[in-house]
Amino acid sequence: LFAGEVDFLKGVVAMDGLPPDDRAEVCFAGRSNVGKSTLINALTGRKGIARASNTPGRTQEINYFTLADSHYLVDLPGYGFANAPVAVVEQWQRLLKQYLAGRVSLRRAFVLIDARHGVKPVDDEIMTLLDRAAVTFQAVLTKADKVKLKDREKVLDQVRGALAKHPAAYPELVLTSSEKGDGIATLRAIIAGLG
Ligand code: GDP
Repeated sequence: LFAGEVDFLKGVVAMDGLPPDDRAEVCFAGRSNVGKSTLINALTGRKGIARASNTPGRTQEINYFTLADSHYLVDLPGYGFANAPVAVVEQWQRLLKQYLAGRVSLRRAFVLIDARHGVKPVDDEIMTLLDRAAVTFQAVLTKADKVKLKDREKVLDQVRGALAKHPAAYPELVLTSSEKGDGIATLRAIIAGLG
C-alpha cells in the first residue's frame, strides 16, 4: 500500500475542493509540533512529502495524499498554536467540522499525542468534535524515544483515561517514534486494513 506509491494530490481550503469521495481515507490530526509531518514522512517513506506548517497565520489547508490507488491519506492542519489569530482558528474549526461530518469515506482519524505530554485540553476538544461527527479515532503517541521506559506507563494511563470519556475512541493506542521507526509498520498495517 505504501511502497513508492504515495503522492501529494492537493491542498484543500474549502469543502468544494475535496476530491471525489470514492476511496477509503484516513486523516491525521494533532497539535502543532506533535510530530505529524515527521510521522507522515516516516509512514510514506517520502522525506519531505508532508511539511510542518509552523506559521500560525498561514492559510489552514487540508492536504491530500494518494496511497496507491486505494486510499487517501489526509493531513489536517495542526491545532493549538499559542498565538494563532482568532479568525484562523475559527476558519479551521469550521472547515474541520464540515469535513468530519461530511466525509463518508473517512474510515478513521488518527489523533497524534506527544508521548511526553499526554492528552491536552485542546486534544480533548478535537476528540469531542470526532465524537459528535461519529468518526472513530485512534490515539497515536509520537516521540516515544523521548520518554524513558519507566515513565511510559504513566503517560499511557493518562491517555487511556482521557480516551475512556470519548465514545468514538478506538481503545488500542499506537506508540510511535518516527526517529527510531517504532510503531510505523503497525500503523501502516492498521491503515492497510481499513478498506
Ligand atoms: P508537526 O508540526 O506536527 O508537523 O511537527 P514536526 O513533524 O515538524 O515535528 C516537530 C519536531 O519534533 C521536529 O523538530 C521533529 O524533528 C521532532 N520529532 C518529530 N517526530 C519525532 C520523533 O519520533 N522523535 C523525536 N525525538 N523527535 C521527533
